[in-house]
Amino acid sequence: MDVIKGNQADGNQLDAKQIDELIRNNVVLTTTDKLLGWFRSRSIFTVTFGLACCAIEMLNTSSAKFDFARFGYEVFRGSPRQADLMIVAGTITKKMQPLIARLYEQMAEPKWVMCMGSCAISGGPFTDSYNVVPGADTFLPVDVYVPGCPPRPEALIYGFLTLREKIWHPNKITGNVARLRDIGKAY
Ligand code: SF4
Repeated sequence: MDVIKGNQADGNQLDAKQIDELIRNNVVLTTTDKLLGWFRSRSIFTVTFGLACCAIEMLNTSSAKFDFARFGYEVFRGSPRQADLMIVAGTITKKMQPLIARLYEQMAEPKWVMCMGSCAISGGPFTDSYNVVPGADTFLPVDVYVPGCPPRPEALIYGFLTLREKIWHPNKITGNVARLRDIGKAY
C-alpha cells in the first residue's frame, strides 16, 4: 500500500514542522462531553412559563428588537418535556410553588433554572407577605440569577450568556465559585 507523504503530487515533501502545522489546522480532537456541552449551550430551549411582571420582560426579550435568535435561544417550548431551561420570572406564591416544582420535574435532563428578578430571587418587595415564597432557591436548584425589578431584556440576555458558559465550561464555573468562596473567607 502506498503511503502519501506530504504533497507528493507536485514532487515536494513536507517537513515535520509543516506536517505539524497541517494537522493543527485540519484535525480537531475533543471529547464527547465537550461536544455535547457545546451543542447544548447553543440550543437552549426555554419552557413557556411566567408568573408576574418580569415575565413580560422575558417575552419582550424574544421580540425582533433584541434579536434573541442570533444566540439560538428564541424557541420557547410549549411543553416542559421539550425544554431544558426554566426561567422563574415573577413572584412565587405558596399556591403556585407546587405547580412550579411539578413543571420542573417534568422537564428533560439535563436541565437548568434561571431566576429572573428580585421576586424570584428573594421574594422582592413582597418577601414579608404571608403567601410569598422568599426565593426559588428554597425548592429549585438555581443556576443563574438575573437581578432587577424587572431586569431589562439586555440583563436576561447576559444571564443566558452566563448560562452558556456554565453549560459549556462547567469546571471553569466551579473554579470561579471556589475562588469567590476563598475571597469571602478572607473577609
Ligand atoms: S421583581 Fe419587580 S417586576 Fe419582577 S415580578 Fe417582582 S415586582 Fe414584578
